Amino acid sequence: MDKQAQISAIAERPVARGFALIGGRRAEALSGRRRAAVSPIDGTVLTELPDCAAEDVDSAVAIARATFEKREWAGMPPKERKRRMVRWAELIAAEALELAVLESRDMGMPFAMAEGLDIAFAIDTIRWYGELADKIYDEMISLDDTVTALIFRAPLGVVGAILPWNAPAMIGAWKLGPALVTGNSVVVKPSEEASLVMLRMGELALEAGIPAGALQIVTGAGEVGKALSEHRDVDCITFTGSGVTGRALMHASANSNLKRVSLELGGKSANIVMADAPDLDMAADVAVRFMFSNQGQVCEAPSRLLVQRGIEDEFVGRIVEKAKTLRIGNPLDLANDLGPVISGSHRQAIVSKIERAHASGAALTLDGRNAEGPAGGYYLGPTIVSRVDPASALAQEEVFGPVLSVIAFDRIEDAIAIANQTRYGLGASIWSANLDNVFYAASRLVAGNINVNGGTGPVVEMPFGGFKESGFGRDRSMHALDLYSDLKNVAIRRSARP
Ligand code: ADP
Repeated sequence: MDKQAQISAIAERPVARGFALIGGRRAEALSGRRRAAVSPIDGTVLTELPDCAAEDVDSAVAIARATFEKREWAGMPPKERKRRMVRWAELIAAEALELAVLESRDMGMPFAMAEGLDIAFAIDTIRWYGELADKIYDEMISLDDTVTALIFRAPLGVVGAILPWNAPAMIGAWKLGPALVTGNSVVVKPSEEASLVMLRMGELALEAGIPAGALQIVTGAGEVGKALSEHRDVDCITFTGSGVTGRALMHASANSNLKRVSLELGGKSANIVMADAPDLDMAADVAVRFMFSNQGQVCEAPSRLLVQRGIEDEFVGRIVEKAKTLRIGNPLDLANDLGPVISGSHRQAIVSKIERAHASGAALTLDGRNAEGPAGGYYLGPTIVSRVDPASALAQEEVFGPVLSVIAFDRIEDAIAIANQTRYGLGASIWSANLDNVFYAASRLVAGNINVNGGTGPVVEMPFGGFKESGFGRDRSMHALDLYSDLKNVAIRRSARP
């Protein structure tokens, strides 16, 4: 069977009834309430999931704490923890095709991205952290002949991971990998918009031998995340989502037990294209592909294109031509580049932002508002808005949709000033063959993730996170281990021998 036929055959199957995963069992909400999982492809109900609340969080946290206290997971020999986490990655890999189809159906991600990014990077991340388990050493310092000082890295205890809907498996793995490998018990709160893949990953974790209380999943709306963030027995909240929720999480921490909070919030990343870019066609290609991937629902999306005057008309012409070739429609059809946005209300919010910018004088160089897809879905095509005032709402606010703002600049200093002129600081890109420009930009751009001449994808080896109101703390890489562990000094004095 060819790939398309395989995908279509899997997508025909009904989605099984969904459950939360508490204490290793499939669980309903204690209230018995359920909520629908709607596919943005055509608005159909895929299945129903438990609509959990604070009382369900209480049960999961109690189990997580007990597992941690018994050292069921934290006390397991590192080699064994490694074996189980790597096994988990293998089990996910064995179901990659089914999981990618499920992700497309649940949140509208184009299949190729679901398979090649969301699921593939989730697998790589879990394996990478799993393999670290027996390679993390503690430290020892000889202070003098009589005192030996040890520095242990200790897990925190119970971690609450509150996830977004835009790349649930990958971002979930960015948090679960380092939180688990350091020995914590994790309670996951997937987004109510896209929970299905994480639920299946949770079942596979149990099958791989991750103890029932070390990884639990509580489904439901923001109320579940709120209960986790206010819980006095949760030691850390790791979050990716909106700035509004990020702020609420910090209040909740301050008002409860001062739990650690790590926030990966929005972005308004600038993509600076200099006239001396090594390959303008490649720059145009990446600008379009990166911007419109996942319908622009990527926190690091390069949503402000800064083009040097002199090449502006030509470059904008190129990106418009490339954007016009993108095909919109059912994300399970391999011929399509873009699927639907997550919901009808989200689509409406994006359209309002386009209309407001248009009304205030920006040029609608490419208008995606009439894009069509399967009936009942929430489709919106690539939209390019030129002559955008860098201080305007469209250039300042995160749209989280397929809308690119174009801004012209004269000198690199101006480009950097415009790039830094938002409250965000997540990503930035520059295209230039001049090393002076590249290093100048890399040192002056206020952003956690800077790509030069194409850079690289979301690799686990490099940390990810932002400056300013894009949040703080880093997912991925060895640096993420710091979030989920703390240091403990042990100074041992012994008698001096003659
Ligand atoms: P978005 O608008 O992109 O969905 P949110 O910040 O609302 O971003 O959602 C991200 C995650 O945070 C979701 O899992 C959501 O259910 C959860 N969430 C929403 N409100 C709260 C809250 N007050 N406290 C904790 N978590 C919340």
